Formats: sequence, C-alpha cells, structure tokens
Amino acid sequence: MATRRSFLKLTAAAAVCAPAIASAQGAGRVVVIGGGFGGATAARTLKKLEPKLTVTLVEPNRIFTACPFSNGVLAAIREISQQQFGYEGVTRADVTLAATTATAVDAAAKTVALADGNKLSYDRLVMSPGIDIRWDALPGYNEAAAEKMPHAWKAGPQTVLLRQQLQAMDDGGLVVMSSPANPFRCPPGPYERASLIAYWLKLWKPKSKLLILDSKDQFSKQRLFQNAWPQLYPGIIEWVSLSQGGKVTSVDPATMTLVTDFARHKAAVANVIPPQKAGAIAQQAGVADRSGWCPVEPIAFESTLQPGIHVVGDSAIMGGMPKSAFAANAQAKVCAAAIVELLAGRKPQDPLLINTCYSLVAPDYGISIAGVYRPDKGVLADIPGAGGVSPLEVVGGFRGQEALYADSWFRTITAEVFG
Ligand SMILES: Cc1cc2nc3c(=O)[nH]c(=O)nc-3n(C[C@H](O)[C@H](O)[C@H](O)COP(=O)(O)OP(=O)(O)OC[C@H]3O[C@@H](n4cnc5c(N)ncnc54)[C@H](O)[C@@H]3O)c2cc1C
Repeated sequence: MATRRSFLKLTAAAAVCAPAIASAQGAGRVVVIGGGFGGATAARTLKKLEPKLTVTLVEPNRIFTACPFSNGVLAAIREISQQQFGYEGVTRADVTLAATTATAVDAAAKTVALADGNKLSYDRLVMSPGIDIRWDALPGYNEAAAEKMPHAWKAGPQTVLLRQQLQAMDDGGLVVMSSPANPFRCPPGPYERASLIAYWLKLWKPKSKLLILDSKDQFSKQRLFQNAWPQLYPGIIEWVSLSQGGKVTSVDPATMTLVTDFARHKAAVANVIPPQKAGAIAQQAGVADRSGWCPVEPIAFESTLQPGIHVVGDSAIMGGMPKSAFAANAQAKVCAAAIVELLAGRKPQDPLLINTCYSLVAPDYGISIAGVYRPDKGVLADIPGAGGVSPLEVVGGFRGQEALYADSWFRTITAEVFG
C-alpha cells in the first residue's frame, strides 16, 4: 500500500505543479496517435497538466469499443453498447480531435501524415495504437477466416459475431478456443473468456463443452481459474497446455478445424486468438523492433529507436508490466507528466506504476492480480512482494466483493479516460 500511495502522491504532485510549469514555459505541440486507453488518457492528461500545449488526438473511430468486460457481452450479461464511449469528453478537455487514421510518421521531419490528406507537426509524438493481428503467423488464419472463426480480440463487430455464433450453436456443440504464446494483449483475458462462455453454456447449452488449446504451459491467475472451474463448471472446460500438445499449428475455416501436432479438433464455434504485434503505424514509424513490439526507456517511455516518439500501452515493451488497459492508462499518465517536464527543459522524475487486472470467473465471482513497477536497469521492473493475487481460499462474499470491485474499476477507468 505504501507504494500505491507514493504513486498517487506523484500523480497529485504533477497536477499541482502544472500551473507553474505552464506560466514559465511557452506552448508546445503534442500529437497523440490512437484514442484508446493509452492515447485518450495521454491527450487528456497533457492538457490537464499543461493547458498551453496544443494537443491533437488522431483516431479514426467516432466511438471507441472497449475490450475490458467485453467477455461479458459473449456471456450475454452485458450489451456491446455498454462497452462504447464517444470522444466528447476528449474535445471538452480542449484536445483537438483528428477523426482520421495516421498513415505515416516522419520521425526526422517530426510530422504525421493523415488519411484525410492533412499533415501534423509535433514537438513530441505519443503513440498508443494498440495491437494488430499477425495475419501471417498461423497458417489458414487470415481476415476472411476471422469472419468464420472470430478472434474478438479487438472489441466491436468481432465480439458481436462470436456472441451470435454461440447463440446459434446447437446444444452439445463443442466450442474451441486457441490461446497464443506470450506476449499478447491481456494475459488473463482468454481464461476469463473461457469462464464466462462456460457460465453461459451451463445455463443455456448444458450439453456443450469448451476446449482451450494453449501455446503456453502457464497462464495468469492459473491456480485461481483452475480452482474455480471444477466447482463452477464441472465437466465443461478442458485446458490443453503446450506440453500436452495444445499449440494450434494451423486452422481450416472451411471445416471449422483447429490442428495441433497431435490432433485435429472440429469446432461448432471456434474462437482463435492469434499471435499479435504492435499496431501497424508503429511498424511504419520505425519504433517497433524485430519482435513486432516497441522498445522504450522506462521513465518517459520514449522510443529507444526514434527520439521524440513515446510509445505506451499494448504496443510497447514495458518490462514486467502486462498489456492491459489499467497499464496503458497508468503509462499514459506518467508519459504525459514526463513530456511536460521534457518540454520545459527539465528531467522527468522516476515513476512508480501500478497494474491491477480483474477477471470475472462468473458474474458474481471476481479474482485479481496486482503488480507495482519502477525503472531498474533500463526496464520497468516488477517490485518483488509489492503486488499479489487474490487468495486461493476465501470465506463469505470475498469473490462477490471482487466482482463488484471489477465493475467499479471499469466504470472509473472509462470515466477517467473518456471524460
Ligand atoms: C477480451 C479482452 C478483455 C480485456 N480485459 C481487460 C481487463 O479486464 N482489464 C484491463 O486492464 N485490460 C483488459 N484488456 C486489455 C485492454 O483492452 C488493452 O490492454 C488496452 O485496450 C490497451 O490500450 P491501448 O491504448 O494500447 O490500445 P487500444 O485501447 O486498443 O487503443 C488503440 C487505439 O488506436 C487506434 N489506432 C490504431 N492505429 C491507428 C492509426 N494508424 N491512426 C489513428 N488511430 C489508430 C485504434 O483505433 C484504437 O482506438 C482486455 C482485452 C481483451 C481483448
């Protein structure tokens, strides 16, 4: 808790210092690419800390559809509309919205070319373009295949499609999920999804089963999930690890088949969560390395490949910090404070960041994992003992309480990000 308080103190201190910095320094131009959890937070925080800055947020979608809690849409405990947020709060914060796609970054000229033909100049650029699917990584899986075997790893039409497929499935049908190797967006996400689909199957298609084919031997909050599944969903969920032959090596959408080294699994509904990489614009800008992700220094999250460009959120390699909305939001706030300092000619302070990921195993059964991170030897390192996971053994309404915390977290973070 001491570390959590220090982090909050740092954020509060940055907010209090803002007027002094603003009056001492002139304006600067910051462009932010991507209006999701990282980008919208960065844009709004920059204006809050330094109102004299000109901040432009580039985002093609008028409505943002959030991934956190989208697994609840699959289980029909939420509607997709509850995942959707507009940008009125962003423009109210005096951020200029460029409702178009960034098509090219010229790091030397410090400009961003836009799909609408305009070009933006910047002093500092923040990129938070999220993930793109590696369409070349899994034989048989391409954009057309995703219409039959949805990934639903970017929330929106894919989420709705997967929900419709589940609802149209016969009772007794086999749902097959494939989960990728690390790193990927939201490490506990596939297992929360399996849990909530199982919750729905138990209610509406009780003869059906769900098979998770995994490219890993271990996963986030594993003991908690595996403790809950036999209690809540006996006989419904089966998990096949990497060493048990769970890695999916190809798919055939025509026959709805997922192929591993040892077996072919024919699915009634297939949810293929494929390997991922940083959003395409990060590759174009030259901030992604051969891993497909973006290396950054751990204080202002400035690219180690392109000076003047900061990368936050899922696209970035953040040492021990997982790819989550909570993390993207925390990184964006730290990044915004650091940019204000850099533009004022000052050295940013070393940050302290928190991440907490809640998962719902059932609508009234929540579990969580938390970590605290600080710069250490050029990366953001996990502070041993500062975080932790929910206890395995609990009494009373503990899991129900955590489900309520999860719900509050979602409402709080989306209010903070989108206003
Ligand atoms: C099923 C699921 C459940 C999840 N649950 C949780 C959870 O419970 N808790 C949690 O903390 N996290 C959760 N996550 C993870 C979370 O959604 C991501 O970590 C988070 O969205 C990352 O934020 P970001 O800013 O990096 O990317 P995003 O939020 O995806 O935002 C990226 C934005 O960039 C825009 N963009 C991309 N390219 C361009 C371009 N060229 N020009 C302009 N704009 C562009 C996109 O349109 C998008 O709006 C979950 C994810 C999934 C898939």
